[in-house]
Amino acid sequence: MITFEQVGVRYADASEPALRGVDLTVPEGELCLLVGPSGAGKSTLLGTVSGLVPHFTGGVLEGRVTVAGRDTRTHRPRELADVVGTVGQDPAGHFVTDTVEEELAYGMESLGLPPAVMRRRVEETLDLLGLAELRGRALSALSGGQRQRVAIGSVLTVHPKVLVLDEPTSALDPGAAEEVLAVLQRLVHDLGTTVLLSEHRLERVVQYADQVLLLPGPGEPPVLGDPAELMAR
Ligand code: ADP
Ligand code: ADP
Repeated sequence: MITFEQVGVRYADASEPALRGVDLTVPEGELCLLVGPSGAGKSTLLGTVSGLVPHFTGGVLEGRVTVAGRDTRTHRPRELADVVGTVGQDPAGHFVTDTVEEELAYGMESLGLPPAVMRRRVEETLDLLGLAELRGRALSALSGGQRQRVAIGSVLTVHPKVLVLDEPTSALDPGAAEEVLAVLQRLVHDLGTTVLLSEHRLERVVQYADQVLLLPGPGEPPVLGDPAELMAR
């Protein structure tokens, strides 16, 4: 579903590449975890999947990234939006409406779906994320974990094949992080969504991962880790 072939990224005026030598295949319906310290290139790698790199951040992309068969060098983020959903670290910063229900509906607006389909998808997503009771709640009155679930939900109503999340649990307490990870697990197992997620702490997410790519830091080559082995450490 996602392939990386000899992927590297260099930003102008940086002496070292932000990323080099990434070779990885993430099959459909698997969860791949990217782990590494701050500055290791996690966001940059996620950006090559959503198309932010090379189209928006000024990074020069080497090698090839494909998502559902589409080359992200020749497809702009807009042309990937129906297959790739992206969730950032701070969802509240991206909310554009006032309530849970409105925010879930907003994600679909540019798709031109019939109102009945949009309504059905909002219902299905409220249920999937355990947000049905909060549907009319003001976004400003939600906890961190609830906010993160709404952010994921607003992307899920598009029915993306691939979900890319940049440290989605890093600002959450352990209980809220568990809730978000349980949602991701359900997506992968029940709906066959492919998930690529970054985290700077391995322990929290490794048990949910089918594959782990370790990005050790600037100048160091990436290493493919075995989740079972990493868990046993
Ligand atoms: P991580 O997500 O693991 O913290 P990043 O991908 O954000 O790592 O950053 C990797 C390296 O690339 C860092 O040295 C960072 O300063 C640099 N970098 C990230 N984004 C940009 C950008 N838009 N322009 C220039 N340098 C960047
Ligand atoms: P429509 O495409 O008309 O919105 P439905 O809302 O009935 O059709 O959804 C079609 C199928 O998509 C359902 O079987 C539902 O379980 C499934 N589905 C729900 N959420 C997602 C998702 N995030 N990604 C992919 N499929 C999903």
